[in-house]
Amino acid sequence: MKKLMGTVVAVLGALLVLVPSGAAGDGVTVTVQDGYSCDYGVNIPFTRTGRSDSYTFEIYAGETAAGAPEVRAEVEVHADSPVTVFLPLRYDVTGPSTHTLKVTAHVLPGREGLEREGVKTISFVTASTPTCGCAAGTAGAFYMGTGAAADPYWISSPQQFDHVRLHLGKSCQQVNDISLAVFDNFSPIPSFTGSYDGGGYVISEANITANAASLFGNPVNAQIENLGVRDSVFHGQRLAAAMGTFYGKVVVRNCFVEDCTFIAESTPYSYTGSISAGDDNTSDNKLNRIENCYAAGLTIRGAYVGGISSEGNGGTKSIGCYTLIDSLSSTLKGGAITGYDINASACAWEYPNSAGVQYACGDKNNNGCFALTGAEFADQSKFTSQGWDFDTVWRMDGSLGRPVLRVFDH
Ligand SMILES: [Zn+2]
Repeated sequence: MKKLMGTVVAVLGALLVLVPSGAAGDGVTVTVQDGYSCDYGVNIPFTRTGRSDSYTFEIYAGETAAGAPEVRAEVEVHADSPVTVFLPLRYDVTGPSTHTLKVTAHVLPGREGLEREGVKTISFVTASTPTCGCAAGTAGAFYMGTGAAADPYWISSPQQFDHVRLHLGKSCQQVNDISLAVFDNFSPIPSFTGSYDGGGYVISEANITANAASLFGNPVNAQIENLGVRDSVFHGQRLAAAMGTFYGKVVVRNCFVEDCTFIAESTPYSYTGSISAGDDNTSDNKLNRIENCYAAGLTIRGAYVGGISSEGNGGTKSIGCYTLIDSLSSTLKGGAITGYDINASACAWEYPNSAGVQYACGDKNNNGCFALTGAEFADQSKFTSQGWDFDTVWRMDGSLGRPVLRVFDH
């Protein structure tokens, strides 16, 4: 009997790269087993043996092919030239991990009595080198993406979110929910100037005590979208807001804040909002926008207090947002959408409400806003009549009885 030994497979190490799914090369058919899927994985350079066109590829966690494989695929290779086999693999994107690839070459039909299966294994390491330029082993370093708009850094762990402060002008994409509970007191990222795409995922359990308590500090020329913030406490002296104090041309889109507390203590002046607070209204670079955002389960306190932003005109415009407020208290001005100088269009607020909030704006007006009763929040027509997009942006959640953002449906 002949053995299909080393000649059956030629697997080249150190050539494993991220590629989009479905990237099978010419002459290769990959059928992943057991319903396993992942939108990233590994590329495996492969040259078939002339004795077989049918292979099983298996990837195991660790340095040996022991136990159950993480992923298994039947692979047909009909090209004699070197090919690339893509396998989805949900590997850790926060740092190096070792896997073992096992390739089994199957005997051609009719030759079962003459030959037997050949097997080759090789170990490899994923996410071995940071892609952000930081040294290997740097806490929170990024291992996916280049930070360019078309190839953002992947943010997967609390340490990686914290690491954003070292790459302030870059594009980032969160790829799963992240709890910041590992930080006793998370220090706000200062002066973010990049693009942060939450990917429809959530940051939770942030506990931030600072003069200006927020996630993104003083963003300018920045974009923050598709990010939820939940179960967090922002305890500021002068300022408290989830996304920060906007210094001009900041766009926050398709974000929510849920079950969070915002407190700014300073007297007589402090500024509090669920999304932004204390936005700069003096520079020429105003034009901050908050679009399609909501805050629900909100407890908020300060001098100038807004359910979305502490102030509007000259600083920040709120467009197509809504709030549902549990508790609001203000020593100077408080409104369900904006604390003072409202600049809003098509924003919804609850009236009457158990928090006793009387106006959308703390200046005692409702400019650019529409009031709904709690029950009316479940009526989609109340929103579509104000131009809200329920085809691509919003979805009415029947159990919650209010709109939610589609980007968070996974
Ligand atoms: Zn780095």
